Amino acid sequence: MRIGIIGGGQLGQMLGFAGKELGFDCEFLDPTPTAPAADAGPVTAAAFDDEDAIRALAARVDVLTYEFENVPVPSLEAAAGDTPVYPPLGALASAQDRLHEKQLFESLDIPLPGWHAVDSRADLDAAAAKLGYPVVLKTRRLGYDGKGQYVIKEPRDLDTAWSTLGGTPLIAEAWVPFDYEVSAIAARSVDGVIEHYPLTNNVHGGGILRYSRAPIANAELDSLARETIGKLLTKLDYVGVLALELFVHDGRLLANEFAPRVHNSGHWTIEGAATSQFANHLLTVAGQAPGAATVTGHAGMLNLIGEIPDSARKPGVAGAELHDYGKSPREGRKLGHITVLADSAAERDERLRALGETVTGSTPDFGTAE
Ligand code: AMP
Repeated sequence: MRIGIIGGGQLGQMLGFAGKELGFDCEFLDPTPTAPAADAGPVTAAAFDDEDAIRALAARVDVLTYEFENVPVPSLEAAAGDTPVYPPLGALASAQDRLHEKQLFESLDIPLPGWHAVDSRADLDAAAAKLGYPVVLKTRRLGYDGKGQYVIKEPRDLDTAWSTLGGTPLIAEAWVPFDYEVSAIAARSVDGVIEHYPLTNNVHGGGILRYSRAPIANAELDSLARETIGKLLTKLDYVGVLALELFVHDGRLLANEFAPRVHNSGHWTIEGAATSQFANHLLTVAGQAPGAATVTGHAGMLNLIGEIPDSARKPGVAGAELHDYGKSPREGRKLGHITVLADSAAERDERLRALGETVTGSTPDFGTAE
């Protein structure tokens, strides 16, 4: 089985490593020939909208998938020809536009924060009047890791927010004073078989994921999250791994956004689950059943952002597993991650805290999530 992967970042690299173990031949398309995935398979250096290059890749493989969300859907659709593309392009199109994403959630009765589409300054005033303060202004397209966002705390911030982001289609969202954040990750096969990973707790800083912990010991939320992601997967006739980010507020789940791909908050599954999210993505897009997503212990992950300090290589924390993506350091850039495993949640958190202190110099606050 030959699998063509659009995007060659760290997600592609980890897909490629999983592919090698499964006996799949993975190759990649990325504008940078030395992208991280080059460690795992051949990379065609081409732009994401280079239809000739995608067409040539499609002709060489049995199935196309992607690890990068901002691939232009029309180019991919036109170039794929008869080669199947999973996850389906309808899912990719919805995930690329926050307005469509919110409309999709609403059509499935999935609760979400209050929102208002903003195409003009007058719309922004109307949004603030409707939603109250604080309000988060976000670009509808191309935002990631908190980029393309502005938190409007009070009326006098409106002008700056508008001059920063105005001129492109926007969405305003009510600010959710969440208790904590979680992600639901699941894999669905061509035959509709769904395998759910346990709910993961995520801690962000500056809009970027810093820590993930799984499983969260809240059976009620876990089953609510399964039901919610299940509705999405079925509606989208989804194939592959999908990650749904949610806010937990007063015991309720509010949908933030979904990613039609493997996700940073699922990196712990490499060491912590019977089948990793990377293996399950490849198995399902290859037309096979997903493997078990069960966990045996308690897993935690620390993202390495901006630099990989020497302390990350020998952190002195039992069982710490470093993944270095081989990228050059740059502020705010995800360069690697470290996974820890433990027999209990308390031990996992203790190891993760020790890791955070040693590697980043600060102690994580896991809040109220168990
Ligand atoms: P996003 O790119 O939409 O996932 O936003 C990145 C992070 O910003 C989220 O994971 C939250 O920590 C925070 N954030 C985004 N939107 C909201 C919101 N409406 N209320 C509270 N926090 C938010």
